[in-house]
Amino acid sequence: MPAKIIDGKAIAQKIRENIKQQVAPMKTKPGLAVVRVGNDPASIVYVNSKEKACQDAGFYSEKYELKEDIQEKDLLKQISKLNKDKKLHGILVQLPLPAHISQQKVLEAISPEKDVDGFNPVNFGRLLSGNKYLYPATPKGVVRLLDEIGCKIAGKHVVVIGRSNIVGKPVAVLLLERDATVTICHSKTKDLIEECRKADILISAVGKKGLVSKEMVKQGAVVIDVGITRENGKLFGDVDFDDVKKVASWITPVPGGVGPMTIAMLLENTLVAKRKIEESK
Ligand code: NAD
Repeated sequence: MPAKIIDGKAIAQKIRENIKQQVAPMKTKPGLAVVRVGNDPASIVYVNSKEKACQDAGFYSEKYELKEDIQEKDLLKQISKLNKDKKLHGILVQLPLPAHISQQKVLEAISPEKDVDGFNPVNFGRLLSGNKYLYPATPKGVVRLLDEIGCKIAGKHVVVIGRSNIVGKPVAVLLLERDATVTICHSKTKDLIEECRKADILISAVGKKGLVSKEMVKQGAVVIDVGITRENGKLFGDVDFDDVKKVASWITPVPGGVGPMTIAMLLENTLVAKRKIEESK
């Protein structure tokens, strides 16, 4: 039987509707600032869809479109202003940044309380120490998808392909927290096929179209495709969808799988940040 398709778009829509209902009666709306530097076409699309999602959910939002050649110190000054702005509960700087700007410095400059992407080292440390706060949106979205389809995580063997700070590492930690046994694979992994074949849950976060074929997937595994490759205006995941759906039990499509969840989790994180900021007053 072919795999069931995990409809990330519908799940994300349900979450966004729920958030909208929570926000409607609030006197002070959750506020999110999204900062983009330069004109990377994918970043423009992401930032615009994040802004639209904010508007749909009834959030207060600000969008900053900064020039490609902005000096690092000026970007840091801008972030410092946003940190102090009481209307804002979340700040997101769209990555990647131009090469002359230190990504690390910028992420460290965002106040941990407003760090809705969860990339500030303080929140990364909280994640590693099992201290719940703001989790990175995409990994959080992956775990939510597994929960939504009723996939038990405890005791399962999860294989994550990719070890970035944005997806691979945090998703592995979140699943470890949920009592999975986790293997992280990467570009230097010796036998990727053999490692992947052990997975009950296989998560690919690489950005290489067609990397995951049927031969790498155990019969009945759940396959989550985080990867995105753009080719001639079309989006592709890492997973050879038509091939892998023959053996998997569940599979996410690209587009319409993990991507919409990232935005839903960003809104959720902004709501979490608002509540925490208000509690600490
Ligand atoms: P990255 O480039 O920082 O990391 C890629 C990882 O893949 C690295 O750890 C590398 O070791 C590993 N890798 C590269 N080639 C490999 C190979 N042949 N075999 C095994 N591992 C290999 O990327 P990232 O920021 O983690 O993003 C990964 C993908 O996920 C990208 O396509 C990105 O666009 C996508 N992404 C999607 C969302 C979403 O919302 N759907 C969010 C974030 C990232």
